[in-house]
Amino acid sequence: MSVRLLVFGRQGAGKGTQCVKLAEHYGAPHISTGDMLRQAAAAGTPIGLEAKTYIDDGKLMPDEIMLNVVQERFAQADVVEHGFLLDGFPRTLVQAEALVGLTDIDAAVNIDVPEDVVLERMMGRGRTDDTPEGIANRLAAYKRETVPAIEWFDAKGLLETVDGLGSPDEVTARLIAAIDGRLGH
Ligand code: AMP
Repeated sequence: MSVRLLVFGRQGAGKGTQCVKLAEHYGAPHISTGDMLRQAAAAGTPIGLEAKTYIDDGKLMPDEIMLNVVQERFAQADVVEHGFLLDGFPRTLVQAEALVGLTDIDAAVNIDVPEDVVLERMMGRGRTDDTPEGIANRLAAYKRETVPAIEWFDAKGLLETVDGLGSPDEVTARLIAAIDGRLGH
């Protein structure tokens, strides 16, 4: 079986935690473009070295590079066999349009948490890009670039918005219900 899922959510909405659980539940590889870039940066690859400045500044990497990263990942056997759960991609309208040119999507979910709540959560998180400036830049990029991409999926009728407040298990249950509805389960 294979499923092709997109998970959206503001930084700090619990997206990473939920994606790990959803990937396990649906048996699909969890593809976090942020994790891939951080690993590439730690390994010192050319893309990783370029990514480091973008990540630390909270700015988005160029679309073209991200599309190559995702396309390469899609070619790997686990994705071909089981599909994917994409976390952190697409993050712009250009990425969204390119993605649906590459593959069908079964469902896109948006984990909805108000901005004041995510700000508080992020301040206590301690990632190296969680400086006040990094956080401000990431939230600004989210509003300017990612909200239009989310709205684009909504306009196509592919998006389910899920309340992200409550315990992690409650949110997981809501996400699974929303996705299963889309999958026709
Ligand atoms: P994340 O872990 O998803 O918050 O990603 C961390 C950082 O990686 C972001 O702030 C961006 O600098 C970069 N990044 C990850 N995914 C993308 C993407 N799809 N497009 C552009 N930049 C990205």
